Amino acid sequence: MSSGDTLNPAERLRLLQDEYLVPSAGHRAERVSRSTEPGTPIRLAVYDHMRKSVGEVVALATSMCDDQAPFTPPPAKAADVYQWLVEETDHLNALRQQARDAVIYRQGLEHAIVMGDLLAIRPHPCPSCATWGLVWNRERETVVCLNRRCADDDGQLTTWTLAQIAENHVARRNGRAARAT
Ligand SMILES: [Zn+2]
Repeated sequence: MSSGDTLNPAERLRLLQDEYLVPSAGHRAERVSRSTEPGTPIRLAVYDHMRKSVGEVVALATSMCDDQAPFTPPPAKAADVYQWLVEETDHLNALRQQARDAVIYRQGLEHAIVMGDLLAIRPHPCPSCATWGLVWNRERETVVCLNRRCADDDGQLTTWTLAQIAENHVARRNGRAARAT
């Protein structure tokens, strides 16, 4: 199954927890650790990624609410954290909500990459040249536009961070919604 562009960030986080956190028989060589439940090994890289993602969302909720404690405590289930963030910050103006949505969307892309679903990058146009040739570069951990005309004068291909791709996507989505109303 490819998570592609069909899963939202919460669904991807749930998939990570349910199907990627506990190694299958084919992943014996990976660095694993014992979880709090005796006898259940977990993949540390996936665990660290999930913990970092949820931590960022909780910190964002606090900072967006002017460092006041959130109204309700963070949810127990990791995948519920995005809905919680949206509810905690729904009183903020449209610009700040758009920044929040870009963080959520960027995390969705990060979850996809942790799952090895590099095709999740594909449905996004290059923010500069608007062509559909974006790919993920594993070594440099960056998004690369393969359009040679988009390259700089030295022939260096244009690169983007996942945050830039997410900000561009959310801005375009909001722009389309605004035109439709
Ligand atoms: Zn480009």
